[in-house]
Amino acid sequence: MIFLANLINGESTAPASGSYLDNINPATGEVYSKIPDSDERDVNAAVDAARKAFPTWSGLPKEKRSALLLNLSSLIEKNLERLALAESNDQGKPLWLSRSVDIPRAVSNFQFYATAALHAHTEAHAMEQTAINYTLRTPIGVAGCISPWNLPLYLFTWKIAPALAAGCTVVAKPSEITPMTAYLLGELSIEAGLPPGVLNIVHGLGPKVGMSIVSHPTIPAISFTGGTKTGAVITQTAGPMFKKLSLELGGKNPTIIFADADFDKTVQTAVRSAFSNQGEICLCGSRILIERPLYERFKNAFVEEVKKLRVGDPLEEKNWLGAIASEQHFQKILSYIELAKTEGGILLCGGKAVQPEGRCANGYFIEPTVFEGLSYDCRTNQEEIFGPVVTLQPFDAEDDVIRYANSTEYGLACSLWTSDLSRAHRMAGQLEFGIVWINCWLLRDLRTPFGGMKNSGVGREGGFEALNFFTEERNVCIRI
Ligand code: NDP
Repeated sequence: MIFLANLINGESTAPASGSYLDNINPATGEVYSKIPDSDERDVNAAVDAARKAFPTWSGLPKEKRSALLLNLSSLIEKNLERLALAESNDQGKPLWLSRSVDIPRAVSNFQFYATAALHAHTEAHAMEQTAINYTLRTPIGVAGCISPWNLPLYLFTWKIAPALAAGCTVVAKPSEITPMTAYLLGELSIEAGLPPGVLNIVHGLGPKVGMSIVSHPTIPAISFTGGTKTGAVITQTAGPMFKKLSLELGGKNPTIIFADADFDKTVQTAVRSAFSNQGEICLCGSRILIERPLYERFKNAFVEEVKKLRVGDPLEEKNWLGAIASEQHFQKILSYIELAKTEGGILLCGGKAVQPEGRCANGYFIEPTVFEGLSYDCRTNQEEIFGPVVTLQPFDAEDDVIRYANSTEYGLACSLWTSDLSRAHRMAGQLEFGIVWINCWLLRDLRTPFGGMKNSGVGREGGFEALNFFTEERNVCIRI
Protein backbone atom coordinates (compact mmCIF):
# COMPACT_ATOMS: atom_id res chain seq x y z
CA MET A 1 0.00 0.00 0.00
CA ILE A 2 1.37 3.44 -0.97
CA PHE A 3 0.86 6.22 1.61
CA LEU A 4 0.84 9.68 0.00
CA ALA A 5 2.10 12.71 1.92
CA ASN A 6 1.50 16.43 1.79
CA LEU A 7 4.28 18.65 0.47
CA ILE A 8 4.82 21.43 2.99
CA ASN A 9 7.91 23.63 3.08
CA GLY A 10 9.71 21.27 0.71
CA GLU A 11 9.14 18.20 2.88
CA SER A 12 6.90 15.17 2.69
CA THR A 13 4.59 15.70 5.64
CA ALA A 14 2.00 13.43 7.26
CA PRO A 15 -1.42 14.96 7.94
CA ALA A 16 -1.90 16.56 11.36
CA SER A 17 -4.91 14.30 11.95
CA GLY A 18 -2.87 11.15 11.36
CA SER A 19 -5.82 9.87 9.28
CA TYR A 20 -5.86 8.68 5.71
CA LEU A 21 -8.52 8.25 3.03
CA ASP A 22 -8.79 5.37 0.58
CA ASN A 23 -7.64 5.98 -2.98
CA ILE A 24 -9.37 3.64 -5.41
CA ASN A 25 -8.29 2.52 -8.85
CA PRO A 26 -11.63 2.90 -10.71
CA ALA A 27 -10.69 0.27 -13.29
CA THR A 28 -10.42 -2.44 -10.61
CA GLY A 29 -12.50 -1.00 -7.78
CA GLU A 30 -9.58 -1.71 -5.42
CA VAL A 31 -7.98 0.58 -2.83
CA TYR A 32 -4.38 0.94 -3.94
CA SER A 33 -3.14 3.90 -1.94
CA LYS A 34 -3.93 6.07 1.07
CA ILE A 35 -4.30 9.84 0.92
CA PRO A 36 -3.72 12.25 3.81
CA ASP A 37 -7.06 13.30 5.31
CA SER A 38 -5.71 16.80 5.92
CA ASP A 39 -7.48 19.68 7.60
CA GLU A 40 -7.11 23.35 8.51
CA ARG A 41 -3.91 22.68 10.50
CA ASP A 42 -2.13 21.34 7.42
CA VAL A 43 -3.38 24.22 5.28
CA ASN A 44 -2.19 26.73 7.90
CA ALA A 45 1.27 25.14 7.92
CA ALA A 46 1.36 25.21 4.11
CA VAL A 47 0.31 28.88 4.01
CA ASP A 48 2.97 29.79 6.60
CA ALA A 49 5.63 28.09 4.47
CA ALA A 50 4.35 29.80 1.32
CA ARG A 51 4.33 33.21 3.03
CA LYS A 52 7.90 32.77 4.23
CA ALA A 53 9.04 31.70 0.77
CA PHE A 54 7.24 34.54 -1.03
CA PRO A 55 9.75 37.43 -0.62
CA THR A 56 12.66 35.37 -1.97
CA TRP A 57 10.71 33.72 -4.80
CA SER A 58 8.99 36.89 -5.97
CA GLY A 59 12.30 38.76 -5.69
CA LEU A 60 14.23 36.32 -7.91
CA PRO A 61 15.10 37.60 -11.38
CA LYS A 62 12.45 36.23 -13.70
CA GLU A 63 15.13 34.39 -15.68
CA LYS A 64 15.98 32.33 -12.58
CA ARG A 65 12.35 31.47 -11.88
CA SER A 66 11.94 30.57 -15.53
CA ALA A 67 14.98 28.25 -15.45
CA LEU A 68 13.66 26.40 -12.39
CA LEU A 69 10.23 25.93 -13.98
CA LEU A 70 11.86 24.68 -17.18
CA ASN A 71 13.78 22.16 -15.04
CA LEU A 72 10.46 20.95 -13.67
CA SER A 73 8.98 20.73 -17.16
CA SER A 74 11.96 18.61 -18.31
CA LEU A 75 11.59 16.30 -15.31
CA ILE A 76 7.90 15.75 -16.07
CA GLU A 77 8.90 14.87 -19.63
CA LYS A 78 11.62 12.52 -18.39
CA ASN A 79 9.07 10.78 -16.14
CA LEU A 80 6.34 10.68 -18.77
CA GLU A 81 5.78 6.92 -18.71
CA ARG A 82 5.62 6.75 -14.93
CA LEU A 83 3.25 9.72 -14.68
CA ALA A 84 1.04 8.46 -17.51
CA LEU A 85 0.63 5.09 -15.79
CA ALA A 86 -0.11 6.77 -12.45
CA GLU A 87 -2.74 8.99 -14.10
CA SER A 88 -4.42 6.06 -15.79
CA ASN A 89 -4.50 3.98 -12.57
CA ASP A 90 -5.85 6.90 -10.57
CA GLN A 91 -8.41 8.32 -13.00
CA GLY A 92 -9.41 5.37 -15.16
CA LYS A 93 -8.47 6.99 -18.47
CA PRO A 94 -6.79 4.91 -21.17
CA LEU A 95 -3.02 4.82 -20.79
CA TRP A 96 -2.58 5.80 -24.45
CA LEU A 97 -4.52 9.00 -23.68
CA SER A 98 -2.60 10.04 -20.56
CA ARG A 99 0.62 9.27 -22.46
CA SER A 100 -0.33 11.29 -25.53
CA VAL A 101 -2.37 14.14 -24.01
CA ASP A 102 -2.41 14.63 -20.24
CA ILE A 103 1.27 14.39 -19.38
CA PRO A 104 2.62 16.12 -22.53
CA ARG A 105 0.21 18.94 -21.77
CA ALA A 106 1.57 19.26 -18.21
CA VAL A 107 5.04 19.56 -19.78
CA SER A 108 3.76 22.32 -22.11
CA ASN A 109 2.02 24.19 -19.29
CA PHE A 110 5.33 24.69 -17.47
CA GLN A 111 7.26 25.38 -20.69
CA PHE A 112 4.69 27.90 -21.82
CA TYR A 113 4.48 29.91 -18.58
CA ALA A 114 8.19 29.66 -17.77
CA THR A 115 8.88 31.42 -21.06
CA ALA A 116 5.76 33.64 -21.17
CA ALA A 117 6.91 35.32 -17.96
CA LEU A 118 10.07 36.43 -19.79
CA HIS A 119 7.96 38.25 -22.37
CA ALA A 120 5.39 39.87 -20.09
CA HIS A 121 5.10 43.63 -20.47
CA THR A 122 3.13 46.44 -18.89
CA GLU A 123 1.28 49.36 -20.44
CA ALA A 124 1.86 53.11 -20.41
CA HIS A 125 -0.83 55.73 -21.03
CA ALA A 126 0.39 59.19 -21.98
CA MET A 127 -1.90 62.18 -21.26
CA GLU A 128 -0.35 64.42 -23.92
CA GLN A 129 1.39 67.36 -22.15
CA THR A 130 -0.03 66.61 -18.69
CA ALA A 131 1.10 63.28 -17.33
CA ILE A 132 2.25 59.74 -18.00
CA ASN A 133 0.60 56.71 -16.42
CA TYR A 134 2.26 53.36 -16.27
CA THR A 135 1.01 50.05 -14.90
CA LEU A 136 3.02 48.12 -12.36
CA ARG A 137 2.19 44.45 -11.91
CA THR A 138 3.55 42.67 -8.87
CA PRO A 139 2.91 39.08 -7.75
CA ILE A 140 -0.16 38.98 -5.53
CA GLY A 141 1.21 36.75 -2.75
CA VAL A 142 0.20 33.19 -1.83
CA ALA A 143 -2.12 31.76 -4.49
CA GLY A 144 -4.69 29.05 -3.76
CA CYS A 145 -5.13 26.53 -6.60
CA ILE A 146 -7.87 23.87 -6.53
CA SER A 147 -8.39 21.39 -9.35
CA PRO A 148 -10.77 18.55 -10.35
CA TRP A 149 -10.35 14.84 -11.13
CA ASN A 150 -11.00 14.64 -14.86
CA LEU A 151 -7.63 15.85 -16.22
CA PRO A 152 -5.66 15.70 -12.99
CA LEU A 153 -2.08 16.76 -13.74
CA TYR A 154 -3.06 18.70 -16.86
CA LEU A 155 -5.39 21.05 -14.95
CA PHE A 156 -3.33 21.14 -11.73
CA THR A 157 -0.31 22.43 -13.68
CA TRP A 158 -2.47 24.78 -15.79
CA LYS A 159 -2.98 26.78 -12.57
CA ILE A 160 0.29 26.22 -10.72
CA ALA A 161 2.54 27.07 -13.68
CA PRO A 162 1.26 30.64 -14.25
CA ALA A 163 1.05 31.30 -10.50
CA LEU A 164 4.70 30.32 -9.96
CA ALA A 165 5.86 32.04 -13.16
CA ALA A 166 4.16 35.27 -12.05
CA GLY A 167 6.20 35.14 -8.81
CA CYS A 168 3.53 33.84 -6.44
CA THR A 169 4.03 30.99 -4.04
CA VAL A 170 1.31 28.35 -4.05
CA VAL A 171 -0.86 26.23 -1.79
CA ALA A 172 -2.60 23.71 -4.03
CA LYS A 173 -5.15 20.94 -3.60
CA PRO A 174 -5.77 18.24 -6.21
CA SER A 175 -9.02 16.31 -6.21
CA GLU A 176 -9.14 13.69 -3.50
CA ILE A 177 -10.27 11.23 -6.20
CA THR A 178 -7.07 11.65 -8.25
CA PRO A 179 -4.17 12.75 -6.01
CA MET A 180 -1.36 10.56 -7.35
CA THR A 181 0.23 12.68 -10.09
CA ALA A 182 0.01 15.80 -7.89
CA TYR A 183 1.96 13.86 -5.25
CA LEU A 184 4.58 12.85 -7.84
CA LEU A 185 4.75 16.44 -9.10
CA GLY A 186 5.62 17.49 -5.55
CA GLU A 187 8.58 15.10 -5.55
CA LEU A 188 9.72 16.35 -8.95
CA SER A 189 9.47 19.98 -7.85
CA ILE A 190 12.06 19.31 -5.14
CA GLU A 191 14.31 17.50 -7.63
CA ALA A 192 13.95 20.47 -10.00
CA GLY A 193 15.32 22.78 -7.31
CA LEU A 194 12.22 24.76 -6.34
CA PRO A 195 13.04 26.35 -2.98
CA PRO A 196 11.12 25.00 0.05
CA GLY A 197 7.70 26.59 0.53
CA VAL A 198 7.35 27.80 -3.07
CA LEU A 199 4.98 24.96 -3.99
CA ASN A 200 2.92 23.33 -1.24
CA ILE A 201 0.43 20.54 -1.93
CA VAL A 202 -2.20 19.58 0.63
CA HIS A 203 -4.29 16.47 -0.01
CA GLY A 204 -7.75 15.75 1.33
CA LEU A 205 -11.42 16.54 1.02
CA GLY A 206 -12.89 19.59 -0.68
CA PRO A 207 -15.07 20.86 2.17
CA LYS A 208 -12.12 20.53 4.61
CA VAL A 209 -8.88 21.27 2.75
CA GLY A 210 -10.41 23.16 -0.20
CA MET A 211 -12.53 25.33 2.05
CA SER A 212 -9.61 26.05 4.40
CA ILE A 213 -7.64 27.36 1.42
CA VAL A 214 -10.59 29.42 0.16
CA SER A 215 -11.29 30.97 3.57
CA HIS A 216 -7.68 31.54 4.61
CA PRO A 217 -7.29 35.26 5.33
CA THR A 218 -3.80 35.56 3.85
CA ILE A 219 -4.54 33.93 0.49
CA PRO A 220 -5.70 36.79 -1.74
CA ALA A 221 -6.36 34.85 -4.97
CA ILE A 222 -8.12 31.56 -5.69
CA SER A 223 -7.92 29.76 -9.00
CA PHE A 224 -10.53 27.00 -9.09
CA THR A 225 -11.64 24.45 -11.67
CA GLY A 226 -14.56 22.18 -10.87
CA GLY A 227 -18.33 21.99 -10.75
CA THR A 228 -20.65 25.01 -10.93
CA LYS A 229 -22.22 24.22 -7.53
CA THR A 230 -18.80 24.11 -5.84
CA GLY A 231 -17.92 27.37 -7.62
CA ALA A 232 -20.98 28.98 -6.03
CA VAL A 233 -20.00 27.72 -2.55
CA ILE A 234 -16.47 29.08 -3.02
CA THR A 235 -17.83 32.45 -4.14
CA GLN A 236 -20.03 32.71 -1.03
CA THR A 237 -16.92 32.46 1.14
CA ALA A 238 -14.34 34.28 -0.97
CA GLY A 239 -16.64 37.06 -2.23
CA PRO A 240 -17.15 38.84 1.12
CA MET A 241 -13.39 38.52 1.73
CA PHE A 242 -12.82 40.40 -1.60
CA LYS A 243 -10.48 37.77 -2.97
CA LYS A 244 -9.58 37.61 -6.62
CA LEU A 245 -11.38 34.62 -8.13
CA SER A 246 -10.85 32.68 -11.33
CA LEU A 247 -13.55 30.04 -11.74
CA GLU A 248 -13.59 27.44 -14.52
CA LEU A 249 -16.86 25.55 -14.09
CA GLY A 250 -19.22 23.09 -15.75
CA GLY A 251 -20.45 22.88 -19.32
CA LYS A 252 -23.13 21.35 -21.56
CA ASN A 253 -21.56 21.91 -24.90
CA PRO A 254 -23.32 21.70 -28.26
CA THR A 255 -21.87 20.33 -31.49
CA ILE A 256 -23.77 22.05 -34.32
CA ILE A 257 -23.66 20.38 -37.73
CA PHE A 258 -24.97 21.89 -40.96
CA ALA A 259 -25.71 19.80 -44.03
CA ASP A 260 -22.86 21.44 -45.96
CA ALA A 261 -20.18 20.30 -43.48
CA ASP A 262 -17.35 17.96 -44.50
CA PHE A 263 -19.20 14.75 -43.64
CA ASP A 264 -16.41 12.31 -42.78
CA LYS A 265 -14.41 14.80 -40.72
CA THR A 266 -17.54 15.85 -38.86
CA VAL A 267 -18.53 12.30 -37.94
CA GLN A 268 -15.01 11.44 -36.79
CA THR A 269 -14.63 14.57 -34.69
CA ALA A 270 -18.14 14.39 -33.21
CA VAL A 271 -17.35 10.88 -31.96
CA ARG A 272 -14.06 12.04 -30.46
CA SER A 273 -15.65 15.13 -28.93
CA ALA A 274 -18.49 13.10 -27.38
CA PHE A 275 -16.51 10.23 -25.87
CA SER A 276 -12.88 11.26 -25.28
CA ASN A 277 -11.84 10.50 -21.70
CA GLN A 278 -15.24 8.73 -21.24
CA GLY A 279 -16.96 12.07 -21.89
CA GLU A 280 -15.30 13.45 -18.76
CA ILE A 281 -13.81 16.57 -20.32
CA CYS A 282 -15.51 19.87 -19.57
CA LEU A 283 -15.25 20.62 -23.33
CA CYS A 284 -16.89 17.42 -24.60
CA GLY A 285 -19.82 17.95 -26.98
CA SER A 286 -22.78 16.16 -25.44
CA ARG A 287 -25.65 17.76 -27.42
CA ILE A 288 -25.27 17.07 -31.12
CA LEU A 289 -27.56 19.30 -33.20
CA ILE A 290 -27.87 18.27 -36.85
CA GLU A 291 -29.52 20.11 -39.74
CA ARG A 292 -32.59 18.06 -40.67
CA PRO A 293 -31.67 17.11 -44.27
CA LEU A 294 -28.49 15.49 -42.93
CA TYR A 295 -30.03 14.00 -39.79
CA GLU A 296 -30.64 10.35 -40.81
CA ARG A 297 -27.38 10.00 -42.71
CA PHE A 298 -25.37 11.51 -39.84
CA LYS A 299 -27.19 9.43 -37.23
CA ASN A 300 -26.48 6.16 -39.04
CA ALA A 301 -22.81 6.91 -39.59
CA PHE A 302 -22.31 8.26 -36.05
CA VAL A 303 -23.95 5.29 -34.33
CA GLU A 304 -22.00 2.86 -36.52
CA GLU A 305 -18.72 4.50 -35.43
CA VAL A 306 -19.74 4.61 -31.75
CA LYS A 307 -20.55 0.89 -31.79
CA LYS A 308 -16.93 0.24 -32.84
CA LEU A 309 -15.50 1.95 -29.72
CA ARG A 310 -14.16 -0.57 -27.24
CA VAL A 311 -14.59 -0.10 -23.50
CA GLY A 312 -12.39 -1.85 -20.96
CA ASP A 313 -9.03 -2.12 -19.20
CA PRO A 314 -7.38 1.31 -19.55
CA LEU A 315 -3.97 -0.32 -19.82
CA GLU A 316 -4.91 -2.18 -23.01
CA GLU A 317 -4.15 -0.20 -26.15
CA LYS A 318 -7.23 -1.50 -28.01
CA ASN A 319 -9.69 0.15 -25.60
CA TRP A 320 -10.87 3.61 -26.52
CA LEU A 321 -12.83 4.23 -23.31
CA GLY A 322 -11.54 3.38 -19.87
CA ALA A 323 -13.24 3.47 -16.47
CA ILE A 324 -15.45 6.19 -14.98
CA ALA A 325 -13.43 8.03 -12.32
CA SER A 326 -15.37 6.97 -9.23
CA GLU A 327 -18.26 4.77 -8.17
CA GLN A 328 -20.29 7.81 -7.17
CA HIS A 329 -19.86 9.36 -10.60
CA PHE A 330 -20.59 6.00 -12.27
CA GLN A 331 -23.93 5.84 -10.40
CA LYS A 332 -24.71 9.43 -11.36
CA ILE A 333 -24.19 8.72 -15.05
CA LEU A 334 -26.33 5.57 -14.91
CA SER A 335 -29.09 7.59 -13.20
CA TYR A 336 -28.99 10.09 -16.11
CA ILE A 337 -29.35 7.23 -18.59
CA GLU A 338 -32.52 6.19 -16.73
CA LEU A 339 -33.71 9.80 -16.68
CA ALA A 340 -33.23 10.09 -20.45
CA LYS A 341 -35.43 7.01 -20.91
CA THR A 342 -38.18 8.38 -18.65
CA GLU A 343 -38.05 11.68 -20.56
CA GLY A 344 -38.89 9.74 -23.74
CA GLY A 345 -35.39 9.31 -25.16
CA ILE A 346 -34.91 6.59 -27.77
CA LEU A 347 -31.74 4.62 -27.07
CA LEU A 348 -29.70 4.22 -30.26
CA CYS A 349 -26.74 2.42 -28.69
CA GLY A 350 -25.07 1.72 -25.35
CA GLY A 351 -27.01 2.49 -22.18
CA LYS A 352 -25.50 -0.13 -19.87
CA ALA A 353 -22.68 -0.66 -17.42
CA VAL A 354 -19.93 -2.95 -18.74
CA GLN A 355 -18.28 -5.68 -16.68
CA PRO A 356 -15.00 -6.67 -18.32
CA GLU A 357 -13.44 -10.03 -17.54
CA GLY A 358 -10.27 -10.37 -15.48
CA ARG A 359 -8.65 -7.71 -13.34
CA CYS A 360 -11.27 -5.07 -14.24
CA ALA A 361 -14.35 -7.12 -13.30
CA ASN A 362 -15.17 -4.78 -10.40
CA GLY A 363 -14.36 -1.54 -12.20
CA TYR A 364 -16.76 1.23 -13.21
CA PHE A 365 -17.32 1.03 -16.96
CA ILE A 366 -20.19 2.38 -19.08
CA GLU A 367 -20.90 1.88 -22.78
CA PRO A 368 -20.82 4.94 -25.01
CA THR A 369 -24.49 5.87 -25.11
CA VAL A 370 -26.52 7.76 -27.73
CA PHE A 371 -30.12 8.96 -27.45
CA GLU A 372 -32.47 10.69 -29.86
CA GLY A 373 -36.03 11.97 -29.57
CA LEU A 374 -35.45 14.33 -26.63
CA SER A 375 -36.48 17.98 -26.63
CA TYR A 376 -33.78 20.62 -26.30
CA ASP A 377 -35.16 21.82 -22.96
CA CYS A 378 -35.52 18.49 -21.09
CA ARG A 379 -33.24 17.79 -18.12
CA THR A 380 -31.07 15.36 -20.10
CA ASN A 381 -30.29 18.18 -22.52
CA GLN A 382 -29.90 20.88 -19.88
CA GLU A 383 -27.88 19.30 -17.06
CA GLU A 384 -24.21 18.36 -17.14
CA ILE A 385 -23.85 14.55 -17.15
CA PHE A 386 -20.06 14.54 -17.63
CA GLY A 387 -19.94 10.99 -18.95
CA PRO A 388 -20.26 8.94 -22.16
CA VAL A 389 -23.86 9.98 -22.88
CA VAL A 390 -24.89 12.17 -25.81
CA THR A 391 -28.11 13.16 -27.55
CA LEU A 392 -28.85 13.76 -31.23
CA GLN A 393 -31.38 16.44 -32.16
CA PRO A 394 -32.46 17.72 -35.60
CA PHE A 395 -32.93 21.42 -36.36
CA ASP A 396 -34.42 23.37 -39.28
CA ALA A 397 -33.20 26.97 -39.15
CA GLU A 398 -30.14 28.88 -38.00
CA ASP A 399 -32.18 30.87 -35.46
CA ASP A 400 -33.60 27.68 -33.97
CA VAL A 401 -30.23 26.06 -33.49
CA ILE A 402 -28.80 29.18 -31.86
CA ARG A 403 -31.75 29.16 -29.45
CA TYR A 404 -31.29 25.47 -28.63
CA ALA A 405 -27.54 25.84 -28.23
CA ASN A 406 -27.83 28.88 -25.95
CA SER A 407 -30.69 27.46 -23.88
CA THR A 408 -28.69 25.98 -20.98
CA GLU A 409 -27.29 27.74 -17.92
CA TYR A 410 -23.79 26.96 -19.23
CA GLY A 411 -21.60 28.70 -21.81
CA LEU A 412 -18.24 26.96 -21.96
CA ALA A 413 -17.59 25.66 -25.49
CA CYS A 414 -19.31 25.00 -28.77
CA SER A 415 -18.22 23.30 -31.98
CA LEU A 416 -19.80 24.41 -35.27
CA TRP A 417 -19.51 22.49 -38.54
CA THR A 418 -20.24 24.16 -41.90
CA SER A 419 -18.48 25.02 -45.15
CA ASP A 420 -20.29 28.39 -45.28
CA LEU A 421 -17.77 30.77 -43.71
CA SER A 422 -20.16 33.73 -43.66
CA ARG A 423 -22.58 31.66 -41.60
CA ALA A 424 -19.74 30.58 -39.32
CA HIS A 425 -18.65 34.17 -38.63
CA ARG A 426 -22.26 35.33 -38.21
CA MET A 427 -23.06 32.59 -35.71
CA ALA A 428 -19.77 32.82 -33.79
CA GLY A 429 -20.86 36.20 -32.43
CA GLN A 430 -24.28 34.92 -31.37
CA LEU A 431 -23.31 31.68 -29.65
CA GLU A 432 -22.98 32.33 -25.92
CA PHE A 433 -19.81 30.34 -25.31
CA GLY A 434 -16.32 31.34 -24.20
CA ILE A 435 -14.85 29.09 -26.90
CA VAL A 436 -16.34 28.64 -30.37
CA TRP A 437 -14.56 26.05 -32.52
CA ILE A 438 -15.37 26.09 -36.22
CA ASN A 439 -14.74 22.86 -38.13
CA CYS A 440 -12.61 21.56 -35.27
CA TRP A 441 -12.68 20.60 -31.60
CA LEU A 442 -10.15 20.83 -28.80
CA LEU A 443 -7.67 22.68 -30.99
CA ARG A 444 -5.81 24.65 -28.33
CA ASP A 445 -3.30 27.47 -28.47
CA LEU A 446 -2.17 28.23 -24.92
CA ARG A 447 -2.01 31.97 -25.71
CA THR A 448 -5.78 32.24 -26.23
CA PRO A 449 -8.31 33.17 -23.52
CA PHE A 450 -9.85 30.03 -22.04
CA GLY A 451 -13.04 30.01 -19.99
CA GLY A 452 -16.79 30.11 -19.94
CA MET A 453 -19.71 32.52 -20.05
CA LYS A 454 -22.82 32.35 -17.84
CA ASN A 455 -22.60 29.62 -15.17
CA SER A 456 -19.51 28.10 -16.77
CA GLY A 457 -17.19 30.47 -15.03
CA VAL A 458 -15.73 33.80 -14.12
CA GLY A 459 -12.56 35.12 -15.71
CA ARG A 460 -10.28 33.54 -18.28
CA GLU A 461 -7.19 31.37 -18.06
CA GLY A 462 -4.52 31.07 -20.75
CA GLY A 463 -1.91 33.43 -22.15
CA PHE A 464 -1.01 36.60 -20.30
CA GLU A 465 -4.49 36.68 -18.71
CA ALA A 466 -3.49 33.88 -16.35
CA LEU A 467 -0.17 35.56 -15.50
CA ASN A 468 -1.97 38.85 -14.84
CA PHE A 469 -4.54 37.11 -12.62
CA PHE A 470 -1.76 36.26 -10.19
CA THR A 471 -0.56 39.87 -9.98
CA GLU A 472 -1.79 43.04 -8.32
CA GLU A 473 -1.95 46.08 -10.60
CA ARG A 474 -0.98 49.59 -9.66
CA ASN A 475 -1.37 52.64 -11.86
CA VAL A 476 1.44 55.14 -11.34
CA CYS A 477 0.59 58.64 -12.59
CA ILE A 478 3.44 61.17 -13.01
CA ARG A 479 2.62 64.79 -13.73
CA ILE A 480 4.90 66.28 -16.35
P1 NDP B 1 -15.89 19.50 -7.81
O1 NDP B 1 -16.43 20.87 -7.87
O2 NDP B 1 -16.61 18.48 -7.03
O3 NDP B 1 -14.41 19.50 -7.23
C1 NDP B 1 -13.36 20.29 -7.77
C2 NDP B 1 -12.30 20.52 -6.69
O4 NDP B 1 -12.87 21.31 -5.66
C3 NDP B 1 -11.83 19.23 -6.04
O5 NDP B 1 -10.47 19.35 -5.68
C4 NDP B 1 -12.71 19.17 -4.80
O6 NDP B 1 -12.18 18.38 -3.78
C5 NDP B 1 -12.74 20.63 -4.41
N1 NDP B 1 -13.87 21.01 -3.56
C6 NDP B 1 -15.05 20.36 -3.37
N2 NDP B 1 -15.82 21.04 -2.49
C7 NDP B 1 -15.12 22.14 -2.12
C8 NDP B 1 -15.39 23.24 -1.25
N3 NDP B 1 -16.53 23.33 -0.57
N4 NDP B 1 -14.45 24.20 -1.12
C9 NDP B 1 -13.30 24.13 -1.82
N5 NDP B 1 -12.98 23.11 -2.65
C10 NDP B 1 -13.89 22.14 -2.81
O7 NDP B 1 -15.68 19.06 -9.31
P2 NDP B 1 -15.24 17.65 -9.85
O8 NDP B 1 -13.92 17.29 -9.25
O9 NDP B 1 -16.40 16.73 -9.70
O10 NDP B 1 -14.95 17.96 -11.39
C11 NDP B 1 -15.92 17.91 -12.37
C12 NDP B 1 -16.42 19.29 -12.70
O11 NDP B 1 -15.35 20.12 -13.11
C13 NDP B 1 -17.40 19.28 -13.86
O12 NDP B 1 -18.49 20.11 -13.57
C14 NDP B 1 -16.59 19.86 -15.00
O13 NDP B 1 -17.35 20.48 -16.00
C15 NDP B 1 -15.73 20.84 -14.29
N6 NDP B 1 -14.56 21.17 -15.09
C16 NDP B 1 -14.48 22.41 -15.66
C17 NDP B 1 -13.42 22.74 -16.47
C18 NDP B 1 -13.29 24.10 -17.08
O14 NDP B 1 -12.21 24.41 -17.57
N7 NDP B 1 -14.32 24.93 -17.10
C19 NDP B 1 -12.36 21.76 -16.77
C20 NDP B 1 -12.55 20.50 -16.11
C21 NDP B 1 -13.61 20.21 -15.30
P3 NDP B 1 -12.67 16.84 -3.65
O15 NDP B 1 -12.26 16.15 -4.89
O16 NDP B 1 -11.97 16.37 -2.45
O17 NDP B 1 -14.16 16.90 -3.47
